Amino acid sequence: MPELQLVSTPSEHLDGSASGLVGDLRAHFQTGTTRPLSWRLSQLDALEHFLMEREQDIFAALRADLGKPITEAFTSEIGMTLSELRLTRKKLASWMKPERVRTPWVAMPGRSYVYREPLGVTLIIGAWNYPVSLVVLPLIGAIAAGNCVVLKPSELAPNASALLAKWIPKYLDRKSIRVVEGGVPETTALLREKWDHIFYTGSGTVGSIVMQAAAKHLTPVTLELGGKSPCIVDESANLNLAAKRIVYGKFFNAGQTCVAPDYVLVHEHVHDALLNRIVSTIREFYGDDPKQSPDYARIVNERHHARLTALLSEADVVTGGQSDVSDRYIAPTILKNVNEDDAVMQEEIFGPILPVISVPSIESAIGYVGRRAKPLALYVFARDEDVQDRVLAGTSAGGTTLNHIWIHLGVPALPFGGVGGSGMGAYHGRHSFEAFSHRRAVLKKPAMPDPPILFPPYSARKLRWIKRLL
Ligand code: NAD
Repeated sequence: MPELQLVSTPSEHLDGSASGLVGDLRAHFQTGTTRPLSWRLSQLDALEHFLMEREQDIFAALRADLGKPITEAFTSEIGMTLSELRLTRKKLASWMKPERVRTPWVAMPGRSYVYREPLGVTLIIGAWNYPVSLVVLPLIGAIAAGNCVVLKPSELAPNASALLAKWIPKYLDRKSIRVVEGGVPETTALLREKWDHIFYTGSGTVGSIVMQAAAKHLTPVTLELGGKSPCIVDESANLNLAAKRIVYGKFFNAGQTCVAPDYVLVHEHVHDALLNRIVSTIREFYGDDPKQSPDYARIVNERHHARLTALLSEADVVTGGQSDVSDRYIAPTILKNVNEDDAVMQEEIFGPILPVISVPSIESAIGYVGRRAKPLALYVFARDEDVQDRVLAGTSAGGTTLNHIWIHLGVPALPFGGVGGSGMGAYHGRHSFEAFSHRRAVLKKPAMPDPPILFPPYSARKLRWIKRLL
């Protein structure tokens, strides 16, 4: 086993085990430092300063890791995070207030409340495709709920990971919030420890490893996973609009988005018309040679590049298909005549390749989706509201945007998370605060009166009263 380097700051190295780190944080949590509203707000302020003052460094890191265009880097990694942060700061005092709930007669006299208390020492493990926001967004929830936190950014986005390890300790309270860089050995060492919550974003395979490690300590988990998110296009859809939004949602970050449409199921009556519009939209967005476009990102590494190009070997390519490993480039690619058992339909594509599959009816599209694991997202383009309702009723997914792609995750009031194979638990907005809070039941009883009906000696008369009061 290689020597581990658990790095809390660039200058701080821990040896092999993470137990010292977790022990320090646990002792610190016990001091109560992270509980007051004032600490939580101060850390949210500091996080805002980090995001605003280090914006150019963040852009540079994302450019180096993924060739991210600045507008995509801003909207998905900084802008959305800032708006969640500001909402949380505004609402936090009210979220923290004990919530009064109804007290039944049998528990009277008394007043019942739900208190939100911090879980304790929490671990956030991020993925590489949005390497800043996938750790900072859950961090907002962890701070808001008053927890100590270890962040483990993805090693596959090394520049973003190094940036977080360098700057987070400079902006935030280092005694409460730490950054550990590293890959499988370091994450394995972290997972051996007892945490009060683990928040994981990444593939289902590793999600299962995380859950098994958590089970040893009965640690609750939030698993933000992926899967093949379908996009259904009905014959009633506005095809120009559908093409524009599908191309945007698919080729944003070169398709490396957990909620990108993985494949399109289009009604056979509009299959050719949609394909034509998608092809012309790609040209409109990225020009004749998307490789030269400043608005088109790159594949994260050579391994993923090879995985994706292998999917193209026997495919019927409508447009795209070009690749250049030296530049980690794969053109926006559309496939047709794809069969259900083709390689491209087995795993989440997670890259700029979009199979467009013709279906004879909406019911057959629903059946197609139903034969697969429940997706993280599902999209429907249809002007016919009956079609929208039929798809919603006939399928299950983590979330759905109707007539657009993944805009639902920019609505903080909506929980963002998967179902079944695409994950468990949810976050964003208040849901992030809830994900990192324990809802503690508190019943406040006065000393008097103290009705005797519950106490022995029992009697038939007391039982009659109990039955009436329930
Ligand atoms: P990844 O390779 O960055 O792995 C995710 C994290 O798991 C990393 O921090 C990594 O260090 C850790 N890890 C990897 N192997 C491990 C192991 N054997 N033991 C312990 N830890 C390990 O990312 P990925 O898994 O390639 O992520 C892509 C997947 O994540 C896709 O399925 C995508 O849909 C999903 N995803 C989901 C969301 C969401 O919000 N639901 C967001 C982004 C990505």
